Amino acid sequence: MRVAALAVLLAAAIPARAQPVDELQQADALVQTIGWRLSHANAGFCPRAAPGIGLLLADVQTFTDPAAARAAYGLAGDIAVAAVAAESPAATAGLAANMVVNAVAGEPVGPPPPRGSWDRVWALQSRLEQAAAQSGEVALMLGDGRIVTVRAAPSCAVRFILDDGKDNAGATRSQVRIGREALVRLGGDEAMIAAVLAHELAHAALDHETVLGPGKRPVAAVRRTEREADRLSVWIMAAAGYDPAAALRMIRLIGPRGLLVIPGASHGKASTRAREMAEEIAVLRAAPDADWARRFRREP
Ligand SMILES: [Zn+2]
Repeated sequence: MRVAALAVLLAAAIPARAQPVDELQQADALVQTIGWRLSHANAGFCPRAAPGIGLLLADVQTFTDPAAARAAYGLAGDIAVAAVAAESPAATAGLAANMVVNAVAGEPVGPPPPRGSWDRVWALQSRLEQAAAQSGEVALMLGDGRIVTVRAAPSCAVRFILDDGKDNAGATRSQVRIGREALVRLGGDEAMIAAVLAHELAHAALDHETVLGPGKRPVAAVRRTEREADRLSVWIMAAAGYDPAAALRMIRLIGPRGLLVIPGASHGKASTRAREMAEEIAVLRAAPDADWARRFRREP
């Protein structure tokens, strides 16, 4: 009886949003950590590389209820660190989630955008990335007035973001996104999530957005880019120290069970994809080095 009473007391003391907020931040941190590891390790091979720091900003104004978000995260300002990648320059500099940020690279964060708008936070994130790319370091003024200068490290010039409420993944030439639901369906397995992010990073690195162009895309052309992304993903994983075989596990898990929404006509059957990636793993194992910028064969 006493134990039950204590449990009830504890439940009442924890804010209602604490659990989901915590899960969201853990998912954000996982995506940043894997994204940074892939991006940093492959910086020497990505056609568009730039120094980065492995940090994602958040704006409470993007939440449905900004006041509740502030309270849940314990923030005294609108702009804060959403996530820091493990072993990134931002982590080394002592930055961590929920630190309030008042200025980025000398510029104050500015007035709130309209409720629900992402414009301010993406502008600040771009400012951070541009400062890192151009000067090799970024100065962040924190909520307590301290200025932390982070020295950037080589990375592929791609932003990794968690897409809340989505169960798939996608990429442009400069951004990779993965749905939070996709992380859940992959059981939070780091290597399999790395396989998905490596596939998307491959799309970005090979600039498939430009290859396919705007408008209606012929299935055969999409299929070629998907095969390329699958094959390059194992090189990207291997360079970052992930076992590329996790990509086969991922495909076998999501394919037959339909865990993720993947159109079969453009992406190919799971068994075909697994075979093609296994063949590519044999190619990379036989290669003299991991330099896929030189070793990887593009699709004809
Ligand atoms: Zn794809």
